[in-house]
Amino acid sequence: MKSFWPRSDSVSVAALDSTSQSTLFGDIERLRWLPDESVFSLASRLHFLSGRSRSADTSRLLFGAERGGFPAATPGGVAHFANAFGQDLGTAREVLMGNTALPQLLAARPRPMQETIYQMAELGSTATLKAKLGLLASGFGGLLPLKACRSCLEEDMQRHGTGYWRTEHLLPGVWLCTRHGDLLEILASMRTGQARYEWSLPRAELLAHVTKGSWTPTEVNRRRLEDLARASVWLLGQGKQGGIDLPRFVSMLWTRLSEAGYAHGYRRLRQAIVSRGFSEHFDGLREFPELSRIATTPTIGYSQLMAVLQGRACGLHPLRVASVLVWLYPGSTQFSEDYEATQSAAAPTNRIPETTKQEDGGVQRRELVARVVAGESVSSAAKAIGVEVVTGQAWVAAAGIRVSVRPSTLVGVHRKRIFDALRNGEDKADVERRFGISASSVNRLLRTEVGLHVAWKSARESTCRARMRSSWLDQLSATGAGPKLARQLVPSVYAWLYRNDREWLRQVNLENEIEPKSNNARVDWDKRDRSLSQAILDAAMEIHDRHEMPIRLVEILARVPELKAKLPKLNRLPLTSRALDQVLKFSRRKRADGFVQQRTIGSA
Ligand SMILES: [Zn+2]
Repeated sequence: MKSFWPRSDSVSVAALDSTSQSTLFGDIERLRWLPDESVFSLASRLHFLSGRSRSADTSRLLFGAERGGFPAATPGGVAHFANAFGQDLGTAREVLMGNTALPQLLAARPRPMQETIYQMAELGSTATLKAKLGLLASGFGGLLPLKACRSCLEEDMQRHGTGYWRTEHLLPGVWLCTRHGDLLEILASMRTGQARYEWSLPRAELLAHVTKGSWTPTEVNRRRLEDLARASVWLLGQGKQGGIDLPRFVSMLWTRLSEAGYAHGYRRLRQAIVSRGFSEHFDGLREFPELSRIATTPTIGYSQLMAVLQGRACGLHPLRVASVLVWLYPGSTQFSEDYEATQSAAAPTNRIPETTKQEDGGVQRRELVARVVAGESVSSAAKAIGVEVVTGQAWVAAAGIRVSVRPSTLVGVHRKRIFDALRNGEDKADVERRFGISASSVNRLLRTEVGLHVAWKSARESTCRARMRSSWLDQLSATGAGPKLARQLVPSVYAWLYRNDREWLRQVNLENEIEPKSNNARVDWDKRDRSLSQAILDAAMEIHDRHEMPIRLVEILARVPELKAKLPKLNRLPLTSRALDQVLKFSRRKRADGFVQQRTIGSA
């Protein structure tokens, strides 16, 4: 019988407690996908079965990197995962398609982009994925929470002896179990961010509703949640088949818009009705943070709808696409058939641009392969014809081309392991030590293996980037103080991100900006205290100069309006409190001494 214990370079099986090994092996040999199970879930089960205490160890073992298996819905290092099980759980691509949310996230994206991102998820880290997919910019937040249905959980405990995370429930847009009709609940610890890099399985006591208190949806809104779940799952299915054809999809939407009286003539929307109708459809669902930004106002709704209809990047998030579908097809999945029908009907008009596009891809591909065969490196050839290096690597690999490697001590299984270590971005010196080879051997391998140097560099960069990003996010969530304070606390992280990852930093900071009215956020009280106290002293000086004595609080407030909101919190603002005290006391003393003052002035 084949062992399902993952093959590992870095973690020894002997690290397990020897007395429990046989039982653990027994369990692990039975480790198979449960129905619709996500990669994250299977990895979590293995983590707990193995008895490891550090989540990072399991992640390195299964995904080749400390954080490869995270985030839950879009893990990176999936090729490592597939190899660790000797492909018994599927090839990397099969795992990505069958056991992650990626096909849904990519369902409306152009094919070349899908391919690039699948390869990122297979080989390296998905740390840049959120930015690439515009998950941050889309306003839905980069993190997809772990969600579960209590009824599913109960059944799973009975049937499989464990709860697990279903891929379908991880999808954006799915907040209701389509089998049981239960509202999904999230892993409560995800809200605080502490669980971001820990393996976990659903347990009843760990789950919590994202909605407030005892909120329950009305019957209408429950149906809308169900519609949204079905549309989201439909998109997953489309993603698995290569994604939706956007022109056809949009053409179907226009037909529907016309039928419903929302559009007239050739693609002209009746803006007022459309924007109101679209926005109102989601009014009852704004309790869900993820859904709260769908058509928040009629104007926003209109622009979101247009983004989908015009195929703009910000309209290609699955939630954007699904929200339009459920609004146009309430209580029905007729869109699925309409889409199929549009596919054949619109084929003649769509065929021309599409073939052209494919041919362009073919020409580029042939040129790239020809350049590499002629001795050019994949990265320079890719740059020359304007495709991503990973795409170039895939084309070259698909054409069956390998750059010959000079024979050396790097032979057989060692060569493959060294190759993998480098591809995962391992430090050169570590590789030399681990495999007992010279620096020049490592460098030669990096130079001669197609794409290896690029992969090594980008893995190292992305590891660094992932570390910096996660440190920044940790700081933001740990202090809850917003970017300004975080910047003071970890200036070097801020500086690195500002230099190397500015767009991401900007997005994240925007999302975490403290709103001026927010009371519960810890703000920079010291700074505020200093500036307020100074403002009070300035105001007093001004009042004094105008001889408007005595100085009254109301006059200070007229000049320092922001002080008003702070009056109940003076105990947290010692300088301000003292300044106010001094100014008002001084003023009272002044009044008593008024005639002395006047006399002094008079005699001067
Ligand atoms: Zn369920």
